[in-house]
Amino acid sequence: MRINNIKKTYQLCVIGCMLFCMAMLGGCAGKIKPISDANSPTNQPEISTTESETTENSAAKITLSGKPDDIFVAEADCYTENDEIVMYFQKGITIKGDMLEIANKVMNDLCETTGFNFNKNYDSDEKYEFMDMYFASGIFTEINSDKSKINILVVNLGDAVEWASDNNAILDQSDFDYDTSFYATLYHELSHVLQFRNGVSLGSMMAEGFATYIENKTRLSHNIPAWTAAQYYFPASGGFDETLISRGKETFRYMFDDIDTNYQYGFRFVTFLYETYGEDIYADILAEAKKSKFDASYNENDMEASVKENSQQLLKIIYSVTSKNVLSDFSQWYDDNWEALAQKYMEQVNALGQ
Ligand SMILES: [Zn+2]
Repeated sequence: MRINNIKKTYQLCVIGCMLFCMAMLGGCAGKIKPISDANSPTNQPEISTTESETTENSAAKITLSGKPDDIFVAEADCYTENDEIVMYFQKGITIKGDMLEIANKVMNDLCETTGFNFNKNYDSDEKYEFMDMYFASGIFTEINSDKSKINILVVNLGDAVEWASDNNAILDQSDFDYDTSFYATLYHELSHVLQFRNGVSLGSMMAEGFATYIENKTRLSHNIPAWTAAQYYFPASGGFDETLISRGKETFRYMFDDIDTNYQYGFRFVTFLYETYGEDIYADILAEAKKSKFDASYNENDMEASVKENSQQLLKIIYSVTSKNVLSDFSQWYDDNWEALAQKYMEQVNALGQ
């Protein structure tokens, strides 16, 4: 996964999204063209279950009923909001009356697991031009301009994948269908937003480790069968080189060259950190990274040196809140515990059924 050297924060995606990520990272720096040139809607969507109004910039605001059985199709780009979230719907999206409630529940569950909150605890310089990829150009510019709320974009992603950044989770409408998704991606992408809003980027390995670990833990604790974690506990043959763990500092990277390793190594490392150092460990690392002004962006022109330097700096931060032996402890812990943890996971998830 390539990370743009201009941005300090990254869009992070669910597994298998490398190409899309690369495109999005370009978009973040203003290199990507909008995929749609749709004009601003002149008509309010016809919504039988909601009321609508027109704001100054012509973006149609709708009010959801809160009832899951109320379903309609957005006939134009539109949005809804509550105290914490602004949810944007791309034209053509099927909207369910309880989508805001679902997102709020996921956010509350994540806060409960992590001890973090979604308040604006940081100073983001993120620009919103990327929204023009999904919506009529500039239509939502004035909305949530102080970034005090979380932007949740519900769009038709087609073959692309979901992603997230400081203020935004970009999701497909299918992510709100519990029966097929078990809300896996909602929990995952909103975990990324939660991390960003509570500190700094720690690079893709830690970010994906945090999101995969928290997504799994939170869903299991709410009795949701979190089958997606099976790919990390039981990677396909050749899917993860376990010797990376035993080789300590030599192979520790704040980001790996291939996206799969970011997830696989990250999931194991973050699990180890939480299991060994307790529930505040990630907050401690974030606080230290913030204090020491860790900057996970890198210089594209000198990748090797840049990645090395960032990895060393991240490791120094982790040492300071754990131990100088953290990587050898990780390796020992992995040998001693991983199989049993994977077994425990299977029993838990099996008990919750399909
Ligand atoms: Zn992710």
